[in-house]
Amino acid sequence: MAYVIDDSCISCGACAADCPVDAISEGADKFVIDADACIDCGACAGSCPVDAPKEA
Ligand code: SF4
Ligand code: SF4
Repeated sequence: MAYVIDDSCISCGACAADCPVDAISEGADKFVIDADACIDCGACAGSCPVDAPKEA
């Protein structure tokens, strides 16, 4: 399991700064989570202003 960032992402970068395993990077249209690296901690969901990271 991993978190997934949905289309409401406004590419602010807050989640990437708070991810303990650097699993989040900037994609073409939104930030994306590397499912293999994500440890499901939920920090990104807590730091996102638009609630874009969702538990998959
Ligand atoms: Fe990173 Fe945790 Fe979000 Fe996974 S759930 S992307 S490990 S902050
Ligand atoms: Fe997108 Fe939310 Fe991450 Fe900002 S914190 S880059 S809006 S997912």
